Amino acid sequence: MTRKAKLETLKKLVQKAKEECFTDRQIKSYKNRLVKLSSNFLSGKISAKELKQLYSEIERKAFSIHLTAKKDLHQALVLSGFSKQQAKKISEHEASHFSAAKKFGMKAYYALRFSKASRSAQKITCHPSVIINWKDFIKDHHLRDMIKNIAKAPKVLSRHDKKIT
Ligand SMILES: [Zn+2]
Repeated sequence: MTRKAKLETLKKLVQKAKEECFTDRQIKSYKNRLVKLSSNFLSGKISAKELKQLYSEIERKAFSIHLTAKKDLHQALVLSGFSKQQAKKISEHEASHFSAAKKFGMKAYYALRFSKASRSAQKITCHPSVIINWKDFIKDHHLRDMIKNIAKAPKVLSRHDKKIT
């Protein structure tokens, strides 16, 4: 795909994601569920198998743009209203999680979601993240170490990252 065609595709995806966006309350509950799931797994309350199943259940309900190249993430962030500088900072942060997951042989992709205060609100907030998918043969205790390492990979950790490490 040419860069120009790619840009058009990204524009359409961002538009669709904005139209189908969540309310701030929904995205907050989604993020809280993710953090809770991760910490339940890290503390040994649930197995990797349960984590994967519950994770995919909440993931399916949350529409997001999936990207695999850092420059596409950067471009999509700019299209979503971030300045180039902010987009660079965010994509570098997410790329650290992404490369850490790749190093462990996982499938990973960048995900972008949007939310606004209410259906009629004008201001849209963009929520970037990295989604990981691990191989089932990985032992639970190895996976725990991997997830912690992926969460703490960026130089500056987000509030969400800190809850997992
Ligand atoms: Zn992070």
